[in-house]
Amino acid sequence: MKKISLCWFRRDLRIEDQTALFYALQQEEQVLPLFIFDRHILDALEDKTDARVTFIYQQIASLKAFFEKQGSSMLVKYGHPEQIFQELVQEFEVQTVYTNRDYEPYAQSRDAQVEALLAKKNIPFLTFKDQVIFEPGEILNGSGEFYKVFTPFSRNWLEKFRQTRVQPLPEANWKNLFPCSPLPFITLSEMGFEASSLEIPSTQVEDAILKEYEAQRNFPAVRGTSRLGIHLRFGTLSIRSLALKAASLNATYLNELIWREFYMMILGNAPQVVDRAFKPQYDRIPWRTNEEDFQAWCEGRTGYPIVDAGMRELNATGFMHNRVRMIVASFLTKHLLIDWRWGEAYFAKKLLDFELASNNGGWQWAAGTGTDAQPYFRVFNPDSQTEKFDKDLRYIKKWVPELGTSSYPQPIVEHKFARNRAIETYKKALT
Ligand code: FAD
Repeated sequence: MKKISLCWFRRDLRIEDQTALFYALQQEEQVLPLFIFDRHILDALEDKTDARVTFIYQQIASLKAFFEKQGSSMLVKYGHPEQIFQELVQEFEVQTVYTNRDYEPYAQSRDAQVEALLAKKNIPFLTFKDQVIFEPGEILNGSGEFYKVFTPFSRNWLEKFRQTRVQPLPEANWKNLFPCSPLPFITLSEMGFEASSLEIPSTQVEDAILKEYEAQRNFPAVRGTSRLGIHLRFGTLSIRSLALKAASLNATYLNELIWREFYMMILGNAPQVVDRAFKPQYDRIPWRTNEEDFQAWCEGRTGYPIVDAGMRELNATGFMHNRVRMIVASFLTKHLLIDWRWGEAYFAKKLLDFELASNNGGWQWAAGTGTDAQPYFRVFNPDSQTEKFDKDLRYIKKWVPELGTSSYPQPIVEHKFARNRAIETYKKALT
């Protein structure tokens, strides 16, 4: 039996500054990289042309090609991770499994299972911090509890960031890769998927965008944000490199990266938010279960141009500008009084940069149910939002070209009526 160590890639699909890979290759063991196309995740995807699957597939192809240039390869498996590991420990004499930590509830239970299975064979399962600067338990308040409010969390985070002197890792020692010929590579169609042609934003962001970030980031018609979400999600970019760049170029941008860790910290410490309101009393709100209104929102047919533009942008590109995400989420939960979980699930299906923690955090913020959320009585007015952030309708006209013609629908609900209905319903449920 061949003696190897495995480096299991998950949401860290790069070779530079990849913590588990770096440390695995520091040892004297020979390391074979591994990726598992996880059926627990893939089987739940309805859209068999999901662009994120194509993206992952392409990243794995390029990682595999890189390892092959070094005289090694990558094991690419398709199935349920716990079964795959059962098979791998029969096939190889596995010395150690290296991987980067993942804080989502599913990932945590998957890893616990794999760790237990390996422990039966005395195989160490070594995990590393990689996708965050600080993990869910690292930034705590004076009483040793996790923060429920962003501002003090971010202050503490920044202080620790300065003290820690975060640095990317040097180049890994490729000589310790396990030498082998190219290993087989499953095709997308063998997994029941087809390639998507949706455009993926670059991993590079121009310094000018970061420098002008404060001034431009709120205008959806402008290319004023980095569009790096998908790369942070799948680790095709190192958070350490990006945070260092942000720290040198723009504090507001760095602050957004701290929001990302704030929500990961919330999810890590309060995993019940996946199904329930962070503030339990908000689960008493009697949401309207109106499928027709929900469908109109999904398809961008609400008769509110900024909402419709956002939903159409999402449906067509897999992206929606942050300002517009806040507007459409507020509209669904307040104007239509539809459960934030419906909107959250729709975003999860469509967003290229879908991240459980940030999506859940963003939705609970908009619905007022979350930690440090928008107060329930603050209801965005889509028209005044348009006036402030898309005054000349450049964004709206791009996505709603029929605006002003008879083919554009009438508003699905009247603003004042909807606002009062939301405030009254919330008030009643909370008292
Ligand atoms: P930039 O403005 O360039 O920001 C850089 C990075 O900082 C982002 O890529 C992201 O990683 C992080 N970031 C920025 N704003 C936030 C924020 N408010 N919360 C957490 N992280 C942030 N972000 C996701 O990454 N995945 C999601 O699934 C997601 N769902 C959202 C749902 C709702 C209802 C709302 C209101 C926000 C959501 N966000 C989500 C946050 C934010 O809208 C996106 O991160 C941002 O629009 C992505 O575009 P960008 O990469 O150009 O961001």
